[in-house]
Amino acid sequence: MSAVCALGTRRLLRQLRSGPPAAAAAAAMLRRYSLDVSAPLLRTQGYVDGRWVSAASAFPVLDPATGQEIARVSDCGPAEAKQAVDAAYTAFQSWKRSTAKERSVLLRKWFDLLLLHKEDLAKLITFECGKPLRESLGEVAYSASFLEWFSEEARRVYGDLVPAPAKDRKILLLKQPVGVASIITPWNFPSAMITRKVGAALAAGCTVVVKPAEDTPLSALALAELAEQAGIPAGVFNVVPCSREKTPSVGEVLCTDPLVAKISFTGSTATGKVLLKMAADTVKKASMELGGHAPFIVFDSADLDKAVGGAMASKFRNSGQTCVCSNRFLVQSGIYDRFVERLGQAMDAELRVGHGSEPDTTQGPLINTKAAEKVVQQISDAVSQGAKVLKGGKRLHGSFMEPTLLADVTTDMLCTKEETFGPLVPVIRFNTEEEALAVANAANVGLAGYFYSQDVSQIWRVAEELEVGMVGVNEGLLSTPEASFGGVKQSGLGREGSKYGIDEYLEVKYMCFGGLKA
Ligand code: NAP
Repeated sequence: MSAVCALGTRRLLRQLRSGPPAAAAAAAMLRRYSLDVSAPLLRTQGYVDGRWVSAASAFPVLDPATGQEIARVSDCGPAEAKQAVDAAYTAFQSWKRSTAKERSVLLRKWFDLLLLHKEDLAKLITFECGKPLRESLGEVAYSASFLEWFSEEARRVYGDLVPAPAKDRKILLLKQPVGVASIITPWNFPSAMITRKVGAALAAGCTVVVKPAEDTPLSALALAELAEQAGIPAGVFNVVPCSREKTPSVGEVLCTDPLVAKISFTGSTATGKVLLKMAADTVKKASMELGGHAPFIVFDSADLDKAVGGAMASKFRNSGQTCVCSNRFLVQSGIYDRFVERLGQAMDAELRVGHGSEPDTTQGPLINTKAAEKVVQQISDAVSQGAKVLKGGKRLHGSFMEPTLLADVTTDMLCTKEETFGPLVPVIRFNTEEEALAVANAANVGLAGYFYSQDVSQIWRVAEELEVGMVGVNEGLLSTPEASFGGVKQSGLGREGSKYGIDEYLEVKYMCFGGLKA
């Protein structure tokens, strides 16, 4: 892969911010960034049964920063999806009989290869989803950590020998893989969302068919290339990339085919509901990692520096496009003004908008212009209802968005009612702990929540009361393979990572041995 053009970020930012002629110049500058077509991990065909397969047509993959086409990828349809399911089903018959140690060794090799190729994979991630290169490298390390974790967990799938109620019986509870799993993933963590699921599935003895998001098929295919190099047997890991046009028909095969035993999805709550309905007819198992609306609560007793640091970390990762990004900031009256002022200073000091491959960029583009328009709509709605724009507020060229800080926000505003998925900080003032909890828990989703307090009793109370699957107490970054990831309410079903993640791919079989003589 060639080095991308080194452009002055400040100049670019000036142009991104200014009127139409300068914006045109910014567009021209951005176009100079390009992905080398000879990138070592760049694959553009589907991966089915250990073979690279072309489809009848191809779809473009675009750099969200420039709108330029960076690759054309085989547009797999229902036929290819069915082939992949059949291949996964055939492969399951032998993969389920492999020993836990054999599966562990292969996952470990895959992990090693991911680390060996981390720069190549990170560049693909940056070019297809826009995220700053430093963050893409972080994503590759995070993604690899799930292969390492599940290579270890594979060897710890214990059953139980249960004391029986009768003397002539023995009771054994045996854990067995569920079968073929369909895995449908979003664009915001295109590599990590795959390994978090696939690591657990393969460790458990399941085989998989992955449908990556239309925007980000390249990292999924790069993972397939590395899986092949690691020696993962044909049919165990399949990838069927497809355009948004084909997604419903491919999704239908993956969620209804009787050979599929399980679906695992990460994406929006709306899509999750569609997939669950499709899977219901054949009563498939389902894991759902859906949308969030994370509250970030700062109590009067909080350590201000830590709260501001946590806010920056939890809000601006991937330009605010992660499901665990703080989405609503609730700040107690006694610390409100100081928090808002310090957060504004930190935004000025730390955030740099630009192409993800520039070393000092911290804020890449949003995934597409529709995503940027949603943020703009939330800002104008808030302003029309009395919110004050303290920083940013505007859409820049294309899908670039100014990091934005809004004060005097109320719970009537759109930005406090729905997930933003962008670099917007809406700050609501509150007076009591009860009030903050009532606002935080009013959402019908509950993925992550964060709060800052130095009052030990309050810490216990609030951590227990928050209706979310993950709580950051004086901490803005939570994700790690050792801990469970998942939400309550309409944020989903099941848990990924941790010692629980593998259970999503296992059945418990009860064996009753009767008629035994003492
Ligand atoms: P999305 O529109 O739901 O898409 C997610 C995936 O579902 C994509 O691969 C998409 O394919 C696919 N899809 C859409 N309709 C489908 C159908 N009828 N059949 C089969 N597949 C279908 O979500 P997104 O915009 O990519 O991601 C943003 C959302 O994901 C946010 O709400 C965020 O909170 C959530 N998210 C949650 C987690 C978590 O762990 N809880 C993590 C990351 C993101 P196409 O790309 O082809 O449309």
